[in-house]
Amino acid sequence: MSRVLIRVWRVAKSEALTVHGDNAAKRSLRRYFRVLRNETVSRFLIAKKIAAEWSEDDSLSKLWLEHARCSNDFQSLERKIDVGTPIEEIPSPGKSYLDLKIRIATEILKDCHFCTRGCRVNRLKDGLGYCGCGNAMMVSSIFAHMGEEPELVPSGTIFTMGCTIRCCHCQNWAISQWKETGTEFKAEEMATEIEQLRLNGCRNVNLVEANRHLGLNNGSKPSSA
Ligand code: SF4
Repeated sequence: MSRVLIRVWRVAKSEALTVHGDNAAKRSLRRYFRVLRNETVSRFLIAKKIAAEWSEDDSLSKLWLEHARCSNDFQSLERKIDVGTPIEEIPSPGKSYLDLKIRIATEILKDCHFCTRGCRVNRLKDGLGYCGCGNAMMVSSIFAHMGEEPELVPSGTIFTMGCTIRCCHCQNWAISQWKETGTEFKAEEMATEIEQLRLNGCRNVNLVEANRHLGLNNGSKPSSA
């Protein structure tokens, strides 16, 4: 999105600016707004600071146990950071909570049960389940979405291919049902795209694997605060 377009959305979607003063929105999305104003730190950056321990041959259930332990550490660190502990003062561990999430996701891909379809295909070995998604991140489009709720606009939208359901009224049928092929993105490439979305004023985006390669706080370059 160009700088000109950023100025245009400020006029066309003025409610996306005034929502910052809305008390109900402020109450329900308090932390989100604080991140937008760069007053606190995005959760994925906090997750990078939580030390996680596992071995390569650990079972999925053991990995989940470690995940539960890290979740407690995460909540405690998040509270400290939200009241002013500088994240820069916290050392980065060799293996983090975010790395653990990626490790768990990789294990699930081998016997896919990401959704309740439970296809149990090995997506790391080209197995395809109901959704048609393999191991690669196949993307239809990346753009700043102006049609979302005011709190989210402009929203860094990444349309990935495939879907776990087949609604007959789907407005993204060509994407969800692989009527187009999409373009493959590596995690590092996707991180660059996300960073660009953010630098161009988008307020949000969320892709865990790409977040490993991101260091930009969601609020480090606020678009409207
Ligand atoms: S539909 Fe896709 S995500 Fe869901 S279990 Fe099957 S392969 Fe995994």
